[in-house]
Amino acid sequence: MGKRGERGLLPKPPWLDPEKVREAEREALRVVREALRGVRRDELASAVLELYREIPRESWLVRGVARVLLGTVARKGEGTWLVYGVPELGDWHGYYIVALEGGRYRCSCFASSWGWRRARRICTHVAAVMLARRVGG
Ligand SMILES: [Zn+2]
Repeated sequence: MGKRGERGLLPKPPWLDPEKVREAEREALRVVREALRGVRRDELASAVLELYREIPRESWLVRGVARVLLGTVARKGEGTWLVYGVPELGDWHGYYIVALEGGRYRCSCFASSWGWRRARRICTHVAAVMLARRVGG
């Protein structure tokens, strides 16, 4: 396809661009490690530290931070968020709905045919929402 044909296309969102996803994963790893070492003190680092006290799983936090850095979290209403799926992170759907009900987070990935495995742990879509809320999302 020539340049003429591509002109009208919207740019690909970062979460669908494998190169941008890898960049975000590298940056997320740096953010989480620096936050846990106490050498980073911005809003995102504070959110990481706060969450780590509840759920001390570094790889879960890194994936959550990567989703936030990619801009995948959109607030939809009171206690409801839309989290765009990132194929590079293993997502099968275009988006997931995360809802906060009675102090508990639920994600639509729990209801997917493969999701039952993930329901036992908190998925990284929820991690992204928990982080985004703490940085004003
Ligand atoms: Zn999920």
